Amino acid sequence: MLKGKTAVVTGGTRGIGFAIAKKYLDNGANVAICGSRQDSVDKALAKLTEYEGRVMGIWPNLCDPQEVAEAFASVKARFGSLDILANNAGVSSRTSLYDYTVEEFTKIMDINVKAVFVCSQAAARIMKEQGGGAIISTSSMVGEYGQPSGCGYPASKFAVNGLTRSLARELAKDQIRVNAVAPGVTRTDMLSALPKEMVDRISAGIPLGRVGEAEDIANAYLYLASDLASYVTGVTLRVDGAAMT
Ligand code: NAD
Repeated sequence: MLKGKTAVVTGGTRGIGFAIAKKYLDNGANVAICGSRQDSVDKALAKLTEYEGRVMGIWPNLCDPQEVAEAFASVKARFGSLDILANNAGVSSRTSLYDYTVEEFTKIMDINVKAVFVCSQAAARIMKEQGGGAIISTSSMVGEYGQPSGCGYPASKFAVNGLTRSLARELAKDQIRVNAVAPGVTRTDMLSALPKEMVDRISAGIPLGRVGEAEDIANAYLYLASDLASYVTGVTLRVDGAAMT
């Protein structure tokens, strides 16, 4: 479905981002795994040796426009284009408002919002010149409902939805589609570390009766990146088994 396309996946070293990268590779794309450090990128690349020649690693500071522009230019130089940006890197916390520091709030906003802005701008500049592309960002179900602690995280995901709708309208004239995927509770390292009884309890509260798998989210990312979604832009697609926090 993505043969000949090139994607950058931020937070692509593990969890949902790694599943997106693998899904894109399995569907014929070239992929740049974008991580925070070279060692974590190298570790991810070591698990993708079967795709040699179609995968590379980058590790710019996602909040630094110059570093991001240079990293994305290196992807275009290597593969010839940059067609898909997956803004997936993110951090969360559940700190109470009474204990929340400005530093923690800023850290969440930097990686969850500012980085989405910086990366989208850098990618859009390349995509416009190429005649189009697709930008997809990882939101969250808490970007619709909020959550009862850790207010910075849901606020950041509301912002991702706002950026998605606004950029979709702004970039449509350049044939750049902009969408988001809002996962519910998804099994990554953090969830796998919880006791089975706790995961069972969480699953029982989800109408579809299970937590999401990283692949469920990657499938939505595949759809939104592909030509099947050629008339879809400005959407936040919920992939949460109809869960409500
Ligand atoms: P994860 O912690 O396994 O992965 C997060 C990724 O973001 C990692 O690859 C990490 O290296 C990267 N990252 C974090 N800080 C970074 C920084 N400063 N610079 C560059 N990269 C950085 O978690 P995950 O669950 O795979 O999360 C992926 C996305 O999914 C996040 O945006 C998260 O908010 C969202 N999400 C996850 C769930 C869930 O239940 N797992 C639910 C809703 C939304």
